[in-house]
Amino acid sequence: MNTFTTPILVVHPKPTDTESTLGYCLRLGEANGFRHMKWLSAILTKCGTLSTSVDNLALLTGHGPQELSLLGGPAPAALGPVPNWRLGLKVTYWNHGHRRWCPLCLRQQGIWKTEWMLALQIACPLHKILLHEHCLGCGILVPWYRGSMFHCPCGADLCRSPTAPATSQLLGIASQLSAAFHLATGQSNMPQTRATGTFPLLEPLHLPQLCDLLWLFGAYALHRPGIKPQKIPNHGQMSVILPFLSMAMHVLNNWPHHFHQLLNEYTHPVEGQTASLRVYLRQLHQALAKLLVHPDLQFLRQEFECYVHTRWQDKLILKPELRAAHPIMSATEAAKVLKIPIRTLHHLIAVGALKGCQTIGAHGKTNWLVERVSVELFSRQKHGLLNLAQVESLLRVTQKRIRLLTEHGLLKAVSKETGAVVNSRQWLFHHADINTFLEQLSHGSVSATPECAQLVSFWEITKRWMQGDDAFLAVTQALCSGELQVLGRSPADSGLRALLISRETFKAWHQKYRLSRGFFTIPEAARHIGMNKNLFYHLVNTGHVSTHMEPFGYENKKITGVRLDDLERFTRDYVWGRNLGRLLGLSEHAASSALLSRGIPPICGPTLDGSEGYVFRLEDIPNSPGPITPLRGHF
Ligand SMILES: [Zn+2]
Ligand SMILES: [Zn+2]
Repeated sequence: MNTFTTPILVVHPKPTDTESTLGYCLRLGEANGFRHMKWLSAILTKCGTLSTSVDNLALLTGHGPQELSLLGGPAPAALGPVPNWRLGLKVTYWNHGHRRWCPLCLRQQGIWKTEWMLALQIACPLHKILLHEHCLGCGILVPWYRGSMFHCPCGADLCRSPTAPATSQLLGIASQLSAAFHLATGQSNMPQTRATGTFPLLEPLHLPQLCDLLWLFGAYALHRPGIKPQKIPNHGQMSVILPFLSMAMHVLNNWPHHFHQLLNEYTHPVEGQTASLRVYLRQLHQALAKLLVHPDLQFLRQEFECYVHTRWQDKLILKPELRAAHPIMSATEAAKVLKIPIRTLHHLIAVGALKGCQTIGAHGKTNWLVERVSVELFSRQKHGLLNLAQVESLLRVTQKRIRLLTEHGLLKAVSKETGAVVNSRQWLFHHADINTFLEQLSHGSVSATPECAQLVSFWEITKRWMQGDDAFLAVTQALCSGELQVLGRSPADSGLRALLISRETFKAWHQKYRLSRGFFTIPEAARHIGMNKNLFYHLVNTGHVSTHMEPFGYENKKITGVRLDDLERFTRDYVWGRNLGRLLGLSEHAASSALLSRGIPPICGPTLDGSEGYVFRLEDIPNSPGPITPLRGHF
């Protein structure tokens, strides 16, 4: 789609950064005299819908992908999908069920901001007022698909809603959410209104972690343990979100004192009953461990553990396995475990003796962390040599596959006594070599958006796309050679399986891999031999081309396709199209007519069975010089 196509809409205002796709559709409608969102599907049905939202908007407005990329949030269903609109946030952190707006922004800027769709954003940092979501005329939550750009379905003017001031602390959270949102959308150069009530603890957090933390206070601090935070009813409504944020503000306001106070208050009713207290605190511990996986949020769990430890001194409350479930440790925790100064720890990471990793905060500050397994192995194995089982715990792949990687030169095994022939079961590896191997795969950079749907983990690849040792080796080699680029690692997993790759890039690579294994889907096979797709399907249906089912699909689902040797056999035995013409020194059409008039039977053809072309057996053609190289399609 280029920008020179005549747009379908007569008036097509440019998208504004910070504007939502849903709001832009309302604005387009308004500019062209359509009263509500229904115009979209009506026009697109008439003009032929394209597959993605950007293509459809380009068709309607004539704007290029770059201008349209300023828009955020989901698109109306009629427009088609927008990849990655969630910015790696959980579904619950978005509210697109109804509109939320700042009447002053709407009046002054005339756009609907994407930021207002964040479930936790309930104030406008610019105008220092609370957002609206109910119509002041009829009281409904104003829907996206009814009503116009500036009006509720009842006719009330949304810009004229009276304003209510927000507290300075709420504005602090609102401006931090706003800043994190702009950073996530790549609009971090937006002028920021710095509110006075910001919370230093929240400042280094990226948007997904900021939402996780604020949500945790609401879901757990208010609703007590046991409730599933994703199951909170009406979480898109401001009346539900406001108490979440009030609780977060209270706790963060005097950290960690108010947090301790909160724990005291909540445990007060069961204070005397040791068993209940244990159950209660354990549930909280579990919730913290499960919800706050990202290293940037672990300070909260650590504070909890520290306080519980000093306040109740009951060893049975804190389950060590909950801590161990986190594959990444803070540098402070690691230094304490190893009983070394933090400076020594950094040195050990730098020389590769320990496997480090890092997060980069919202303001660019690097936070150093250490792989838990690496710390455990280091404390046990002072000489720095690991056996196969220990390498397995670090790489999280089977010993058989570690041997495979070693045999193919991706890992280096050493033997204790030089010169002695050792069985592969007795192989030893330098801890530092394994660390370097992982480090070369960008294993150290913890992703800020590990849950982003555009990413696929190494674990998912080997589990769902590429089973078997050959496939495992192929994908690992592609990662090592840089053919597949690692974009970061998930903090919830360790070893190779934590690596994250762009899903789109992986799919393209996977297709190439399948073709390199000599397996084509039917359209690919037709393209490969330069034959019309419908004609090829016809030959498949009549059994002239043999097909197979092979497990190259998602979750190893079998897909039907043609093997390269079958395809080569076909092109050796049959002739059609331009090659047929070339063979007889005639045009394609004249060649088939000549053969038909001489009584040579084709295997299919328009006059024979209604197929889209004539195909002849090469051996039936008199004086044929033998097989002809087919025309190759391009990939
Ligand atoms: Zn505003
Ligand atoms: Zn209304």
